[in-house]
Amino acid sequence: MATTIVNAKVFDGTRSRDWTSVRFADGVITECSVVSAAREGDEVVDAGGGTVLPGLIDSHVHLVPGALAQSSTFGVTTVLDMFSKPDVVAAAKEQASRSNVADVRSSGIGATAPGGHPSLMYAPIPTLTTADEAEGFVSERVAEGADHLKVFSGVGGRWPALDAATITALVAAAHARGLIVVGHVSSVAGVEQVVSAGVDVVAHVPADAALGPRLVDRIADAGIAVGPTLATVENTLGEPGGAAVAGDPRLAEVLGDGWVRRLTAGIPRLSGPPYSRAEDNVRRLADAGVTLLAGTDAPNPGTVFGASLHRELELLVRCGLSPARALAAATSEPARVFGLADRGRVAAGRRADLVLVSGDPLTDITSTRAIDRIWRAGIAVDRRAFVASAAEAEQLDAFDARVAEVVAAVRERRSRP
Ligand SMILES: [Zn+2]
Repeated sequence: MATTIVNAKVFDGTRSRDWTSVRFADGVITECSVVSAAREGDEVVDAGGGTVLPGLIDSHVHLVPGALAQSSTFGVTTVLDMFSKPDVVAAAKEQASRSNVADVRSSGIGATAPGGHPSLMYAPIPTLTTADEAEGFVSERVAEGADHLKVFSGVGGRWPALDAATITALVAAAHARGLIVVGHVSSVAGVEQVVSAGVDVVAHVPADAALGPRLVDRIADAGIAVGPTLATVENTLGEPGGAAVAGDPRLAEVLGDGWVRRLTAGIPRLSGPPYSRAEDNVRRLADAGVTLLAGTDAPNPGTVFGASLHRELELLVRCGLSPARALAAATSEPARVFGLADRGRVAAGRRADLVLVSGDPLTDITSTRAIDRIWRAGIAVDRRAFVASAAEAEQLDAFDARVAEVVAAVRERRSRP
């Protein structure tokens, strides 16, 4: 059966259109039109003047049990995992294939040096030391089903790290296999390193110093995308954004008590640069026209799947992005960058991954939280099926304990003479 949304505004992933109606059948959008596209026998959904958006894409998560269901609860219909073990990825992909939860693509295990970040979170993991191991490392990830490659720059950090030649060799090996490469950074020097190595996406935004104009221009000229993950950075640098997520009734109504507690609990913090520097760097990238991707880095402390992407959108707008550009960062841009040609836009022929919100996110970005309906591949998502239980939130206790260990280890290293 076909479904037709009528009486709507439509943001197509890049801009608002003069359409009022979107029709879809068999999981695919079949028509977008200025007048009602409804035909006899259709299920007709009256949007009441609300806005249809493409299903949201979170460009940076780490899979844990419940991740995909909770994501879809908040209109996130695709997540891009940026480091998980192959058995976790396989289980998630299997779940996404048989139930109406968010779809997933994954890097599997990222490339780092022995003892390098994020070994404390995930050891034991395969690692490498030299450029001539890059080919073998990448082919192992491909054999495990990786959709893209994650590489870790540890430059400016306190852990063992890959050298520039090894990162460059990893990028070349991944590109030879058609994989997009995402470079994790924690410093401006790290950004220099991964940009020089030719990555396609920079993950996180540094706050240790200002991104200089020459580096920003290199990123823009090379067409490299940046996923700042401000929703996690703000918590890391001591500005608890989780409370802002839990404090919005439009998000809290489908969070559940366990997740609200997790969002508002104390977060292990490192003294560091002010969070405002991270936003300043995003503003520099935005001003230079760099492609930005919305990602949460959930489930890092202070974040939850799905809900925190709405926080990320708000933070991106605070950095000077227009609401349309912020929405593109969570729809059409990640679809383009990661080669997900079937989604990310409201257009005939694309997957019917759709979110209907009341209000207009193009004038108030937080309207993305006022979700009325969600469809993944044309199938309606029951938003209340996953009002996450305390038990599911507690499954993250192990993850949080590892984060606390990392923070303690960094403190210990910093205290060494
Ligand atoms: Zn991450």
